[in-house]
Amino acid sequence: MSGRTYTQAGSVADAVAAMAAGARPVAGGTDLVVGARHGKSPLPQAMVGIHRIPGLDSIEVDPNGAIRIGALVSHAAILDSPLLAEQAPGLLDASAIVGSHATRANGTLGGNVMNASPAMDTGAPLLCLGAQAVLTGSSGTRRLGLDELWISPGRTAASADELLEAIELPAPSGAGARGSAYVRLQYRRQMEIAVVGAAAVVRLSADGGRVADAAVAITAVTPVIVRVSAAEACLVGADLSGGGEELEAALQAAGRAAAWAATPISDVRASLGYRTQMVAVMTRRAAAAAIARARGQQVRVPASDWSVVR
Ligand SMILES: Cc1cc2nc3c(=O)[nH]c(=O)nc-3n(C[C@H](O)[C@H](O)[C@H](O)COP(=O)(O)OP(=O)(O)OC[C@H]3O[C@@H](n4cnc5c(N)ncnc54)[C@H](O)[C@@H]3O)c2cc1C
Repeated sequence: MSGRTYTQAGSVADAVAAMAAGARPVAGGTDLVVGARHGKSPLPQAMVGIHRIPGLDSIEVDPNGAIRIGALVSHAAILDSPLLAEQAPGLLDASAIVGSHATRANGTLGGNVMNASPAMDTGAPLLCLGAQAVLTGSSGTRRLGLDELWISPGRTAASADELLEAIELPAPSGAGARGSAYVRLQYRRQMEIAVVGAAAVVRLSADGGRVADAAVAITAVTPVIVRVSAAEACLVGADLSGGGEELEAALQAAGRAAAWAATPISDVRASLGYRTQMVAVMTRRAAAAAIARARGQQVRVPASDWSVVR
């Protein structure tokens, strides 16, 4: 007998009570259970299924214009959301390339974020979009920026009894069109983990002639996914009106700045040197795709497919 226990929560309060008593939450199980089957780490002694908790699987806009994505929203549901396609296409770029159809149908946004892998695909676009984690535990509800949530590979700042209820994307601020994109280096199109990834979110000036604001984040090349302010500074102010030379120079500079910020490892999938160069390439592609979307150009999801031909 393993002595393992599994219960099912019918509410957030049930889940929090079980977690306070030592149980680990399981949503889609595509990290926790599949990882255990592959010998990554043993199944926890006590688990609480959270997949039937009502109200955590919807995508809603609150009265202030913030988008609330329930923790149980699957990658497939993200791909089906016209609201997110319009407001956060970079998140669709990420969910579109998570695993296979089966992984996307079962795997949740909450599980991806709470797994805290530096290679998670939704992390970089969420960070650039200013996402906040809504955590509920025995002592109430709090909000944490994702830069505060992820503290090291596989570890978050959430207490053992804190359930992620939702991810909130703040309402866009400032005039001017916005665009976002996420691109990853992958050796095949399905069932791949990012070798290197990058996301960008941009806002154009009201007349569309310049980049007014930019956010850039890199994936799988630092212990936790981080924003790169030096790369963002290279994009802000870039002139979009001429023949494209100034924009190209800004994109290249942003790529170089992101590569400087990366601290990649060498392993069987890529050397440190190759990863470093690819950070520059992925960052350039993500920023180019985000700017193209902000300018109303068609960039298909996932942008990883679109960008390799540009
Ligand atoms: C074949 C395969 C391919 C994959 N490919 C990719 C890929 O390309 N890109 C990628 O990013 N990931 C990939 N993954 C990883 C995984 O599918 C995703 O991270 C998925 O989003 C996890 O969601 P889940 O609901 O299955 O998480 P679970 O396995 O249920 O949980 C993951 C972790 O988060 C915790 N958790 C879950 N929900 C909550 C919550 N609401 N509050 C607090 N803690 C919570 C769990 O306790 C556990 O520690 C892949 C997995 C498999 C099996």
